[in-house]
Amino acid sequence: MRGYPVHDPEKCIGCGACSNVCPTDSIKVEEREGKIIWIHNVARCIRCCYCVDNCPTGALSVGGEYSMIANSLNKLFIVHELDTARCVSCSRYVPYSSNIVSHLSSKVLKIDLKCERCRLGNVLKVIEKVREL
Ligand code: SF4
Ligand code: SF4
Repeated sequence: MRGYPVHDPEKCIGCGACSNVCPTDSIKVEEREGKIIWIHNVARCIRCCYCVDNCPTGALSVGGEYSMIANSLNKLFIVHELDTARCVSCSRYVPYSSNIVSHLSSKVLKIDLKCERCRLGNVLKVIEKVREL
């Protein structure tokens, strides 16, 4: 028998794959006020561990806890705030976990993440240059 999944926020990239495959909608990965929040509603979890099988970074593992005993509603929710990435130009927060930037940069290509305002600024500069031609 499998226990409840255990989440390691140090390895989590906030990709939401666990949330997408969860058949009971137990996991949510949300953006709240510029922070990426990973939430597990233990009361809904059926311990199928599809989330563990589909996590790309090994941030989820099969735990040894089987029973759901809690003396308050809050204890049924495991909530982890992930470190949020910052724009390489202005240092504002962007709605991605900082782990996903390092993960993708090490696996695929180097990513220079920019916030919406800086990206828009770049587009406006290009438009200005085109107008000057
Ligand atoms: S890295 Fe794993 S635990 Fe984190 S959101 Fe993606 S699938 Fe879920
Ligand atoms: S063990 Fe199954 S039910 Fe529980 S969070 Fe993972 S995918 Fe959802």
